[in-house]
Amino acid sequence: MRELDDDEVLAVLAHETGHQHHRHVMRSVLQGSAVALAAALVTGDVGSAGAVAIAVPTFLLDQHYSRAFEAQADEFAFDSLERAGVSPRRLADAMRKIDAAGAKRRDGQALGYLQSHPSSAARIARAIERAEAFERN
Ligand SMILES: [Zn+2]
Repeated sequence: MRELDDDEVLAVLAHETGHQHHRHVMRSVLQGSAVALAAALVTGDVGSAGAVAIAVPTFLLDQHYSRAFEAQADEFAFDSLERAGVSPRRLADAMRKIDAAGAKRRDGQALGYLQSHPSSAARIARAIERAEAFERN
């Protein structure tokens, strides 16, 4: 993949920090467990209670964030970047490069990242929107 420059790496790290700030890992685990628990209650299958215990490590191995969590981590990243004097555009640039690398299916790291942090036209559009407001000032 075309390497990310310093500001693009900063943008990706700011996004990661956003997940930590909002405790998305723990919230995703709890949501996964709640689904398994609800299934056990509905089916009356006591064996399904074991699914609660299984859901947690499975989630940790195959972690992916919801669209809402991605958006929340992005907003955190935009705020952090702006405070550092860096345009939110740099997160859009980083996402485009990671997407391009993933599309070629050669860069294992990019693919892993895309699986846990699904990119989307909406995320890039929002980054550009924030960038245009920031760059006007
Ligand atoms: Zn993410």
